[in-house]
Amino acid sequence: MHVSHISPVEFDAELIARHDGSGPRYTSYPTADRFTQGHAVPNYLNALHSRQAQRPGAALSLYVHLPFCDTVCYYCACNKIATKDRGRADVYLDYLEREIALVRAEFDQQPEVSQLHFGGGTPTFLTNAQFERLMAILKKGFTFKPDAELSIEVDPRRLHDGILALLARHGFNRMSLGVQDLDPVVQKAVNRIQPPELTQSVLEQGRALGYKSINLDLIYGLPHQSVKTMEATLVTVLGWRPDRIALYSYAHLPERFMPQRRIEVAMLPAPSEKLAMLKLAVTTLLDAGYVYIGMDHFALPGDELAVALDEGTLQRNFQGYSTQADCDLIALGVSAISRIGDVYAQNHRVLEDYYEALDQRMLPLAKSLVMTRDDQVRKAAIHDLLCQSVILIPDFEQQWGLSFADYFAADLAALRELEQDGLVTISDQEIRITPRGRFLARIVAMRFDRYLREATTTAKYSRVI
Ligand code: SF4
Repeated sequence: MHVSHISPVEFDAELIARHDGSGPRYTSYPTADRFTQGHAVPNYLNALHSRQAQRPGAALSLYVHLPFCDTVCYYCACNKIATKDRGRADVYLDYLEREIALVRAEFDQQPEVSQLHFGGGTPTFLTNAQFERLMAILKKGFTFKPDAELSIEVDPRRLHDGILALLARHGFNRMSLGVQDLDPVVQKAVNRIQPPELTQSVLEQGRALGYKSINLDLIYGLPHQSVKTMEATLVTVLGWRPDRIALYSYAHLPERFMPQRRIEVAMLPAPSEKLAMLKLAVTTLLDAGYVYIGMDHFALPGDELAVALDEGTLQRNFQGYSTQADCDLIALGVSAISRIGDVYAQNHRVLEDYYEALDQRMLPLAKSLVMTRDDQVRKAAIHDLLCQSVILIPDFEQQWGLSFADYFAADLAALRELEQDGLVTISDQEIRITPRGRFLARIVAMRFDRYLREATTTAKYSRVI
């Protein structure tokens, strides 16, 4: 008999409003603000060499960061470089080629790749010729498995003719489209004019070319947005029936993100309106048959993300939720974060620093973190909460050889308050996120974050809603 791992979900506006606060998204644990400078290159090389010794044939995941955007969206909080000069991407590819050669030199044999993702910035800033060159560089360093999952973030406004077909010929089979909102007044206020017909035509092109699991990104909380505009956006988007929808909260942090200074605070929806928009979006998506995957993500029941959730095999990594087994990730390009075994390593965030390291024939790494056993235990607990909404205590104790009640005594004490509020249930057998708690799963995960509890953080996180 098939037992579904999909937990029910219930939208409780009052509970969400009460627990609204900032928190990490846990695309990694420990979170990237814990990485430190100093030993990034030796830590990374040690991790690669022990991988060679222990699992030489294991397939890799690759991530390539393509940072250029030719206009800036005012809500942007990404690490990107604004330019209209396509020639800058040629220079960038020169450096990516050097970086790949340095990484490749550390392997005895050409490594196999089961997953590749192009993120940005705007990956579709590149011209067709630049994409051809990038694929040639990657294929020189790595062997792509025939069934590899190749995905790209697409900006429908910046799509050179024939690019989706070109990428499909190279094996690309997944894409995510940036949309955010379809209302023209909202689009103008955030400097992202993107007619709905354009988005629809790119989505249809993608489908015709065989791209699967097509995702659309939406944002709530943008200037001039209201329940009314959100409703209109959802009606149109649901008419297109994308396989996946990511629904992000806009966090206004103009002191951290320069482009956000162009957004007029007076035009932002009030917190109550923002919450009403979230409620509308969630109920509309659930009524339309989408499954809530967790942490901002929805998918149609037949989509592989929903299937993985159902089967209890869902994963979480730097790109959010994933169906792929937790393979080592080599990340290339400015600011990109790799994870090999128990080591995280991040490239320089500033382009000039990234170029300078490669000019000196050095891996362009700036920061790293070697996970302790405690980090690994907590990473597993947070993973279970975010991917399955439950920690099964006897299984966890057996896997990690510990007494849950003793090991997590302080965490469990901190969790009691959330239990009283109805976010979790706690027993000897399991910690389970309730249907009402699912939209606040990261609040529960934060109770298992040792670094947060020890309050050593200086990082500012986005709010939950
Ligand atoms: S939101 Fe995306 S497309 Fe817009 S400026 Fe930021 S990185 Fe570029």
